[in-house]
Amino acid sequence: MPVNEFELIRRYFWGLGAGDAIRLGIGDDAALLELPPGEVLVTSVDTLVEGVHYPEDTFPEDVGYRALAVAASDLAAMGASPLACTLALTLPEADELWLQAFSEGLARACADCRLPLAGGDTTRGPATVITLQVLGACPADAVLRRNGARPGNQVCVSGTLGGAAAALAILEERWHPGPEAADALLARFNRPTARLALGERLRGVATAAIDVSDGLLADLGHIAAASGVAIALDSAALPLAPALADAGERGRAWALAGGDDYELVFTLPAEAPLPEGCSRIGEVREGTGLSVDGEAAEAGGYRHF
Ligand code: ADP
Ligand code: MG
Repeated sequence: MPVNEFELIRRYFWGLGAGDAIRLGIGDDAALLELPPGEVLVTSVDTLVEGVHYPEDTFPEDVGYRALAVAASDLAAMGASPLACTLALTLPEADELWLQAFSEGLARACADCRLPLAGGDTTRGPATVITLQVLGACPADAVLRRNGARPGNQVCVSGTLGGAAAALAILEERWHPGPEAADALLARFNRPTARLALGERLRGVATAAIDVSDGLLADLGHIAAASGVAIALDSAALPLAPALADAGERGRAWALAGGDDYELVFTLPAEAPLPEGCSRIGEVREGTGLSVDGEAAEAGGYRHF
C-alpha cells in the first residue's frame, strides 16, 4: 500500500505493540509470543466489513475499539487470558485522518483488553475490511466449552442485555428514545466490554460458556445443543440495559433476540455462588431446546446469510 506502507505501520500501529507476552513484535517477518508453561494457545479471528458490520458513518475511533473488543470477547468466552492480537487491514486509500482515529480507538481497546498488537498486514482493496486475530492462553483442562451444561445447573449472564440491539434500532431509525438514553445505548454498541476478567474467574467453575454475539436465545441454543440439554429462561430475571426501562415489550424482545451485547452467558453448578455483576436468568433441564416462561422459544437471532 503506497504512502509508504512501512511508514504507515510505524506511525499508526508500532506503538500498540508492547506487552509481556510479546518477545518479538511488529517489524520482522513474524512475531514471537511467550506462552505460559503448560498452557495451550487459544485463538480466534473476527472480520468487520464496512457497511455490513458497522454503518459507514461510524467514528473510526469506535470502529477500532469495537473491532478488537468483539474479537476479544471470544477469548473471554473460552476463559482464556489475553496474550496479543494481530490486525489485517484492507483500505481503499491511506486516509491519514481515518488511520489516526482508528488507531487511537484500537489502542484504547488494546489496553482495556490487555491485547498488545504483535503484527499484521496492510493492503489496498475496494472496501474497508478489518480483521482482528486474538491470541490467549489457558490451561487445557480449564477451557470453558459449550458442551458441559448439566441438568440442575443455573444459567447466568453478565452485565445487561438488549442495549446493542436497541442502538441498532436507533441507528436504523426504527426507535426514537430521548437523547440521554440514545447516547448511552450507542456507546454500548460502539464500545462493547469484553468480559475477560470474568472469563478467567469462571475457569474451573462454569460448566459451559458462550458470549452473546448473535442474541441470547441463539447463543444459548448453541450451549443447549452442544450439551444435549434443555434450557428454561425466566424473562422477568433478564437484566435489561438501564436505558430500556421504558421500552416495554420491545426491551424484552431485544434482550432475548438482539445480538452484539458481548456479555458472557454461562452455566454454573446449582450450589456455586453468582459472580459479582451477573444475574441468574434460568436453569438447565433434561431434554432439548429452549423455553421462556414455560413456552418453547425459537433460537432465532441474527443470521448473516
Ligand atoms: P511482509 O511483507 O513480510 O508480510 P509487511 O510489510 O506486511 O511484511 O509487514 C511488516 C511488519 O509490519 C510485520 O512485522 C507485520 O506484522 C507488521 N504489520 C503490517 N501491517 C500491520 C498492521 N496493520 N498492524 C500491525 N502490524 C502490521
Ligand atoms: Mg504482509
